[in-house]
Amino acid sequence: MSKKTCLNCNRTDAQIPLIALIFKGEANYICPQCLPVLIHKTQNLLEKLPGMEIAPPADE
Ligand SMILES: [Zn+2]
Repeated sequence: MSKKTCLNCNRTDAQIPLIALIFKGEANYICPQCLPVLIHKTQNLLEKLPGMEIAPPADE
């Protein structure tokens, strides 16, 4: 997939500015509206970034 689209909402860079995320040497893109999802609900993007790992919270 070489087309630049937001990981989360699939809008293209023709529709909204996209922020590049470099992960494992590959560029992925996310739009500013979806950036909070990446920050706060990272697990929602796990399936879209294969290989990404989330450290569990240290305290329970
Ligand atoms: Zn988006």
